[in-house]
Amino acid sequence: MSAMRAGRYALVRLGLAILAGVVVGLLLHRVFAGIAIALAVLLAWQWVQLYWLNRWLKDPRNEDAPAVRGLWGDVVARVGHIDKRRQYHKARVLKLFREFRRSTAVMPDGVIVLNKDGEIAWFNRTAARLLGLRGKADRGMRITNLVREPALRDYLASEEFAEPVLIRRGDEGPWLSFQLVPYSAAQRLMLLRDVSRQVALESMRQDFVANASHELRSPLTVMTGYLETLIGDPVMDEELRGPLLEMQRQTQRMNGIVSDLLDLSRLDAQVVEAPMTEIDIEAMCALLRKDVQARPVHPQVQVSIETPARLLGDQPEVLSAFSNLVDNAVKFTPEVGSIHLRWYLSPAGEACFAVSDTGPGIAPEHLPRLTERFYRADAGRARGAGGTGLGLAIVKHALLYHGGRLDIQSEPGAGSTFTCVFPARRVSVLDGGATLDSSQRSSSNGNR
Ligand code: ADP
Repeated sequence: MSAMRAGRYALVRLGLAILAGVVVGLLLHRVFAGIAIALAVLLAWQWVQLYWLNRWLKDPRNEDAPAVRGLWGDVVARVGHIDKRRQYHKARVLKLFREFRRSTAVMPDGVIVLNKDGEIAWFNRTAARLLGLRGKADRGMRITNLVREPALRDYLASEEFAEPVLIRRGDEGPWLSFQLVPYSAAQRLMLLRDVSRQVALESMRQDFVANASHELRSPLTVMTGYLETLIGDPVMDEELRGPLLEMQRQTQRMNGIVSDLLDLSRLDAQVVEAPMTEIDIEAMCALLRKDVQARPVHPQVQVSIETPARLLGDQPEVLSAFSNLVDNAVKFTPEVGSIHLRWYLSPAGEACFAVSDTGPGIAPEHLPRLTERFYRADAGRARGAGGTGLGLAIVKHALLYHGGRLDIQSEPGAGSTFTCVFPARRVSVLDGGATLDSSQRSSSNGNR
């Protein structure tokens, strides 16, 4: 019955009741009493309907729908319809949830649901196997109490979850990668993966490169020695001099590659961050400038020390990174150009060492790949300039070793700026952190 029809029937019923009341009232000569009795009967009837409806609503699924009439029947039909729809959606959500639980339970990756306090709310079978978790006993326990590794505690406290953290439990245990995925304010998902195979492969690759480079060193030393002797021999055939000089150039290049590969292997093998030794960058810049000036042909060099802050790091690695950048700047900048070394603090308090040049610049499509091993933006020019293609990879790794990063700004025809950015915790300010006026400490090399 439609709501309007049911409403009309209710009115008709009311009208009929009043009419019946009037008739009975007329018969008894008490019209108002008749109407009152009729309304009372109608009210009692409504009350009975309401009573049955209320009883049914307490448990609509177990009780049969009451045989109520009129508007009340309409209400019963509607409630039944709403309840059926709710049942249907509930069953669907439940089915989806069960399927999700079943698939997560057998996933090859470990999954742990943590609440906001880091307590375990749920875990799947793989997580239980990888961490030795026990059914209900470990639910509600803090993950850091079950996996007592400082690296995991620091990772969870860091709130920086873009990268996973690698942890090995004991000397023989598997390497596990833990990654946190926050998905609501109250819960977080911890993904666990056994990465022992990847770690073993990576370590084999590192060992192979390190061993191969090491093994190549001795034959190269012998060849370099013989070539030097032959070239220096006054009775040597002049026709052979050209090819021998080329051989010497190539062995020097190979020596450069081997030495860069060894540097990279050493940086790759670092598992802890660089030490916090105080480094005087002003003195280092002076040294770098002197090195450039010692070359027979070089562009102008300007140095700006804009902060008295010192860097806390590993001196040889920092020097190697900075000299790689200066070396590139000199290599790619014509004699009439200039290079500028700047040491300053960024507004965020990070320590920055920037090397700018007026060289040819780099097309934007090369920028993201420049720090890859052996990647060259302009292969012909770079090889001609004597590069190994490993310089920027070394810089990147040396900076990672210090928790820093390399920032590259460049535009073809407008020069390049390579900036080594060190985190604020690696800055040591000696005299209250006063920033010097750049012109006070700026010096340039006018004589070329
Ligand atoms: P390479 O030994 O070839 O210089 P790097 O890793 O140091 O290798 O540099 C990678 C490439 O980046 C270079 O081959 C060159 O194309 C580009 N590059 C590096 N520094 C500069 C610079 N200052 N100006 C222009 N191009 C540069």
